Amino acid sequence: WWRGAEFEMGVEEEAGKKMGVFDKIINKEIPVNEVYEDDKVLAFRDISPQAPTHILLIPKIKDGLTGLSKAEERHCQILGHLLYTAKVVAKQEGLDEGFRTVINDGPNGCQYVDHIHVHLLGGRQMNWPPG
Ligand code: IMP
Repeated sequence: WWRGAEFEMGVEEEAGKKMGVFDKIINKEIPVNEVYEDDKVLAFRDISPQAPTHILLIPKIKDGLTGLSKAEERHCQILGHLLYTAKVVAKQEGLDEGFRTVINDGPNGCQYVDHIHVHLLGGRQMNWPPG
């Protein structure tokens, strides 16, 4: 359901009318199972977990960073902070045997939400190559 909703929101967002789903999460309009928050990043459990631990980390201010392919030099700090926070949250979640971070980008990368996010997956053996 959310894929369609996100598509519609994306269109309306362009017209400056409506926020995307992750903006609503940041604004606490959509409740999430939050695991970490600081002034720059919010981390919460994915609604459709693909592993025993599946957390999304998002920047609180999008600043045009809809996906990694849209990154500019000014985003270097937030990108580093997102990855560092993934490590902090992995430790907090007890993922001592390892974990995986994923950033999907664009249609071929299976990105559905237009607000950059890092997936943190763990709690089971991962496979390589990924699907
Ligand atoms: P993407 O495919 O990399 O864009 O991942 C988007 C992720 O957001 C998917 O894993 C979804 O399950 C997740 N998601 C979408 N809406 C929500 C929500 O409201 N709460 C938590 N996770 C969500």
